[in-house]
Amino acid sequence: RDPLLSVDDLHTQFDTEEGTVKAVDGVSFDVREGETVCLVGESGSGKTVACESITRLVPQPPGRITGGEVRFDGEDLTELSGKALREYRGGRIGHVFQNPQEALDPVYTVGDQLNEAIRLHRDVPKSAARERAVELLDRVGIGDVSERIDDYPHQFSGGMKQRVVIAMALACDPDLLIADEPTTALDVTIQAQVLRLLDDLQNEHGMAMLFVTHDLGVVAEIADRVVVMYAGKVMETGSVYEIFEDPSHPYTRALLECLPGRGRALDTIGGSLPEPTDPPDGCRFHPRCPHAVPECETGSQPAFRDVGGSHDVSCLLHDDRHDLPRAMEADDD
Ligand code: SF4
Repeated sequence: RDPLLSVDDLHTQFDTEEGTVKAVDGVSFDVREGETVCLVGESGSGKTVACESITRLVPQPPGRITGGEVRFDGEDLTELSGKALREYRGGRIGHVFQNPQEALDPVYTVGDQLNEAIRLHRDVPKSAARERAVELLDRVGIGDVSERIDDYPHQFSGGMKQRVVIAMALACDPDLLIADEPTTALDVTIQAQVLRLLDDLQNEHGMAMLFVTHDLGVVAEIADRVVVMYAGKVMETGSVYEIFEDPSHPYTRALLECLPGRGRALDTIGGSLPEPTDPPDGCRFHPRCPHAVPECETGSQPAFRDVGGSHDVSCLLHDDRHDLPRAMEADDD
């Protein structure tokens, strides 16, 4: 069966005073029905822009999708606009963003906002929409729903606001939920509750989920498959098992080493992301890569190599045509 979502060679760029930023530079990945795919990478790797490009939420201008396809159930969303696109946004594709504050309108009650989200996509009377809103708020764990449905967003805590946003994203039973760092703005205990809620809801509804995070601990808990991004490009993709058991790209390895309990503290990968307006030639990771050799610094990003199963990696160390030192194998000894 074809994937539910197929992103193919997507290019999204921003025109800035400093120059053109190719935030997403030839990114491809699939999401199949019912599965959870995690997009992973540091801030600035392009994962949020990749997600926003799917339903064209990238602010235009200064943003622009300059190439590629985004097929959802066979339809190329990059070709749609206006009403046709809005049918997907909040309909078959739900969104949960990092900051629930920004997703909610402070001047309307949460009940009114849910009603609107439902009636935008479904031709139902107000009373039925209200019933559905109560059901959704109850399901996401807002206690005393009959009391709270007419409250305003500022009357909810951060964690509760995010639950309301999740209820809104689920309003029309989406086939795909795009969740962009949905727990980052929340404190640690609330993060765990919201993650559990998303996991439960996914199991109940059978929807697919595209989950953006920089936290590999979260990935280990929820992902079926993982797409590792760096500086606008995909570095490695594979099942969660393949990525954690046999990370094959030096960047993935560096991210994994930052996991608590695995050695280094967070944010200690040496160096920083390249200048977005002037990424390096060759492999984008070469200025920070402990295994880089001169060949890594020229040409373009290495082509993907199949390293077994569903595991692909963009690194010359896995390219048979190059006689590079098997440095990473030596690391494992
Ligand atoms: Fe490192 Fe070269 Fe592989 Fe890039 S291609 S990750 S620079 S070894």
